[in-house]
Amino acid sequence: MAGIYPLNGSLQYYAWGGNQYLPDFLHITKTQAHYAEYWLGAHPSAPSQLITADGELSLLDFLQQNPTALGTQSRQLFGDNLPYLLKILDVANPLSIQLHPTKKQAEIGFAQENAAGIALNDPKRTYKDDNHKPEMMIALSNFWLLHGFKCRADILDTLRQRPSLAELATKLASQSLADFYADIMLAKQEQLAQWLLPIIDAQQKAYEQNQLAMQNPDYWVLYTLHAMKISRDKLDAGLMSFYMFNIVNLQVGEGIFQAAGVPHAYLRGQNIELMACSDNVIRGGLTPKHVDIEQLLKIIDCSEIVPQIIAPAPQNQVYTYPTPIADFALSNMPYAKNTEISDRTLNGTILLVMAGEMTLEARQQKLTLKQGQAAFIEADTDYRVYGMQEGYAVLAGLPI
Ligand SMILES: [Zn+2]
Repeated sequence: MAGIYPLNGSLQYYAWGGNQYLPDFLHITKTQAHYAEYWLGAHPSAPSQLITADGELSLLDFLQQNPTALGTQSRQLFGDNLPYLLKILDVANPLSIQLHPTKKQAEIGFAQENAAGIALNDPKRTYKDDNHKPEMMIALSNFWLLHGFKCRADILDTLRQRPSLAELATKLASQSLADFYADIMLAKQEQLAQWLLPIIDAQQKAYEQNQLAMQNPDYWVLYTLHAMKISRDKLDAGLMSFYMFNIVNLQVGEGIFQAAGVPHAYLRGQNIELMACSDNVIRGGLTPKHVDIEQLLKIIDCSEIVPQIIAPAPQNQVYTYPTPIADFALSNMPYAKNTEISDRTLNGTILLVMAGEMTLEARQQKLTLKQGQAAFIEADTDYRVYGMQEGYAVLAGLPI
């Protein structure tokens, strides 16, 4: 057993992706228009490739053949699958508003869709697997996102400040947030036009002249209209989310966790994302994809949320970010030139070099890894990292 293996991830070329960040990060030549996500993991739809002495092998197949590489704790909790998926994202245009189910909701939804005979690749399929998908992210740039409902008093203020939304404030005063949100998501085009067009018309000039503050929801409505080429006669109910959800700005190194049911949308920037190995996304607008309003309203968490920002990792030590779940933990490993760090894995671990260059040694193996290059480290492996050029790596594994 080698203990460590070079690992090549998979790119996703979704239309919301940028065209520079990921090719630069991975040091590859551009052949596509959009580079949205780089995946490292063993998700069946895009497993990473492991380089072994006998050639390339998908991490999925490797783990099936060598389940002990996952580690005892991981196998006890999650069976013979890698429980997490690590991604780098380049969000050039807003992603859909989305939320993810609890484990229980996913099990029920997956079974129901199977029983109803909806094929896994049917665009109307919501549950692709029976797993939950908690996710956390660390910003690699100044990053903007929507995250959960803001507090009722703030929503009321936001609505009252806009004449075309003032009637909604009156309505919300006597309604639960859940009922209020449901009515908005089910609103007809005419109604959306009455709410949104006066704002769009009033703010168009200020938007074009860069005079709108980025904390102002009007900015994001106009930005999204342009970025997603949404026409005035096909307004998306998801645009109303900007007036109800927290608009969150993360600085480089800060992060946030998305618990089950919390609505969120990445708006702009680059990040590292670590999540449970699942593809279960329930969408709430701003997407050409299937929006299942019934499922959305069933599982959305309409509680008022104060965003909890994860603080940046310290720059002089290996640090594991706190996570409230058992499925994954992300660690940050800064290294200086000509310094060594020794550690031991308890569970199957993915190491990705974010900046600089290092060597990774374990047993009789030695890999040289630079920015964008990754390795899979088997469970129970003593390893040494030696800095060749100052930088840092992230490690995906399980919480200890
Ligand atoms: Zn998500």
